[in-house]
Amino acid sequence: MDTTDYPIIIEDLNKEYGKVKALKGISFQVKKGEVFGFLGPNGAGKSTTLNILTGLLQPTDGESYIFNEKSKKLSKTTKHKMGVVFETNNLYKRLTGRENLNFFADLYNVDSSKVEELLAFFDLTKAGDRQVKNYSKGMRQRLLIARALLNDPQLLILDEPTSGLDPQSVEMIHRAVEDFSSQGNTVLLSTHFMEEADRLCDRIAFINE
Ligand code: ADP
Repeated sequence: MDTTDYPIIIEDLNKEYGKVKALKGISFQVKKGEVFGFLGPNGAGKSTTLNILTGLLQPTDGESYIFNEKSKKLSKTTKHKMGVVFETNNLYKRLTGRENLNFFADLYNVDSSKVEELLAFFDLTKAGDRQVKNYSKGMRQRLLIARALLNDPQLLILDEPTSGLDPQSVEMIHRAVEDFSSQGNTVLLSTHFMEEADRLCDRIAFINE
């Protein structure tokens, strides 16, 4: 297998939380340029897998790679090539939406015109000057995805990106994934919605128990 064709490789991951066997030998690869859906009901182990993949959690056994680097040793260069949105909401709530994006734009040396472009795409231009603590769940999630796209990543990893959101936010997030993918980029997306997987994904993997 030519690993350059596979930005994500997951090999026989096992994870035990005490007596709970959360993962029992998960393996799959995500091809360059595809939208890969990771499907399963709540509690199946999707977040655990994505946390291990991005190096936030250690597996009990097995190995995973992003751009051919081991998850536990991802370099800054590789991290800059990826955008990650997990369920934990880590926005600065007392800052406005625009300030949140500009903060990261400065960090990544990204022009503020990109911030405006993303605010517009996610219909947050007007709301951009309001504090994030007053945002709805859908607005926060749109802002998180905008933030993940700021540094022009090649790979997007999304954990249940539309769970519990209003239909307008869901539609904008789906369009963002389609746009991102149409430029040749790679997406790994976990979801428990079959319709979402059906609309967005080129290939899917199921995980259950
Ligand atoms: P999903 O993302 O598919 O909903 P998770 O990866 O969150 O699934 O959870 C998989 C299993 O591991 C579940 O049984 C869950 O209760 C358990 N689990 C997840 N995190 C922990 C933890 N920190 N401690 C103990 N059990 C956990």
